[in-house]
Amino acid sequence: MQSFEESLEISATIHGHLCAGQVIGVRMALLGLRLIGIDDPKGADRKKLHVTVEIDRCATDAIQSVTGCSLGKRSLRWLDFGIMAATFVNLQTGKAARVLAREEARELSKKYCPALTDKYQRQLEAYRIMPEEELFAVQEVKVSIPECDMPGRPIRRVQCAQCGDYVQDCREVERDGRTLCRACAGQRYYELI
Ligand SMILES: [Zn+2]
Ligand SMILES: [Zn+2]
Repeated sequence: MQSFEESLEISATIHGHLCAGQVIGVRMALLGLRLIGIDDPKGADRKKLHVTVEIDRCATDAIQSVTGCSLGKRSLRWLDFGIMAATFVNLQTGKAARVLAREEARELSKKYCPALTDKYQRQLEAYRIMPEEELFAVQEVKVSIPECDMPGRPIRRVQCAQCGDYVQDCREVERDGRTLCRACAGQRYYELI
């Protein structure tokens, strides 16, 4: 497993800048992996790991870079809860831990780097050295990942009765006896022009 400093350097490069979110994300991921007994997330353990992130902010990129999990591999799932937390699952043992970034850490950062007056700089530096217990709250949890969300080949592929697009992974919607894609079922996020 990469060290904290190595991981941080890589994640800052991928993310585009070094920020407090990278520090939090890297430490959160290293903690999460340790809690579920994953030592080699990008090698031997890569198929045993699943991560759910609850926010699409800076730390999410760090979690992706440390764990090697990604949307494209379906080992990373994003649920838009707006909470700085992520849940790490060992698919082999079922062990799962939800790690939440504690709100109090913002205030506590003053204790560690009092000389830094810029809030963001202070948080960035303090989050590097603060003890895990002050940065994070951990919950042992149980996660059932629906079969349709699991990595591997799609279970199903069906055609939308209205637009003709093909829908994978059980995302189709049954409406009045017709099989529709989500867009045709009323969830279209774009307008045709
Ligand atoms: Zn950032
Ligand atoms: Zn459709």
